[in-house]
Amino acid sequence: MSATGIAANLRERTAAREAEAMDTAYDGAYAIEARSLSVYYGAFRAVRDVNLHIQPRKVTALIGPSGCGKSTVLRAFNRMNDLIPSARVQGDVLFHGRNLYAPEVDPVEVRRRIGMVFQKPNPFPKSIHDNVLWGARINGYTGNADELVERSLRAAALWDEVKDKLKQSGLSLSGGQQQRLCIARAIATRPEIILMDEPCSSLDPIATLKIEDLMRELVEDYTIIIVTHNMQQAARVSDYTAFFNMDEDRAGHLVEYDVTKTIFTMPKEQRTEDYVSGRFG
Ligand code: ADP
Repeated sequence: MSATGIAANLRERTAAREAEAMDTAYDGAYAIEARSLSVYYGAFRAVRDVNLHIQPRKVTALIGPSGCGKSTVLRAFNRMNDLIPSARVQGDVLFHGRNLYAPEVDPVEVRRRIGMVFQKPNPFPKSIHDNVLWGARINGYTGNADELVERSLRAAALWDEVKDKLKQSGLSLSGGQQQRLCIARAIATRPEIILMDEPCSSLDPIATLKIEDLMRELVEDYTIIIVTHNMQQAARVSDYTAFFNMDEDRAGHLVEYDVTKTIFTMPKEQRTEDYVSGRFG
């Protein structure tokens, strides 16, 4: 075997071993779990000592006033903070019983299994078809491309609207369609968890409702964690809600976490009550 062949073979085996290592040790209880999670940007502690276990195949909403660290916590769940040079993560994020921040874990594999959808839809200046395939191709997908594109677009409730124009640019779609295209792109890598960072904040009310409906469909197969500043949205779409707040030092922390109905109707903490009833934030 040539040197490049050996290197490719080694890479393949290493990837397979890492994927397998993530699967063993799984206790089946939670989809993902933050333990004593703190995140710093330089010397500033943006998130303090968060313990949060996420239930599988449920929608969990992260709510709280602006700047309390919701997006930072969300990004910690798929090592997206690694891409911010000043960010430093302390504590553990357990996925299949394994710390995502362990040195041998490959962040690219993490992001395949824990996908992300951003605030503003960000399709690439490529065709609808190629947008869907993008992440799957990076991850070495060699199966039937058309079949994967159709399956992902159907799962994202976009197929009927785009099936006759798959070669058109993703950028030619409306904002709501673009966001569903981004969801299709995330789904195409067959993740277990989809992180959504205010996915409707740039959409009109009808497009917003479509995404919310879609989330309720997707949760049959995926675990969804959504950051939202819209409390009605959290109440409408989520099964569980985590309320974050910050102190004078501006470090965000988890105040209360419970089933959504409890958080909105009979929270245990006064701060939660004040926030959900619109007294601050
Ligand atoms: P939220 O999502 O609740 O609005 P964020 O997680 O975006 O809060 O931000 C939490 C804190 O971390 C804020 O004080 C914010 O200014 C700071 N922060 C967020 N991203 C960065 C970054 N890339 N560099 C430095 N500080 C950041």
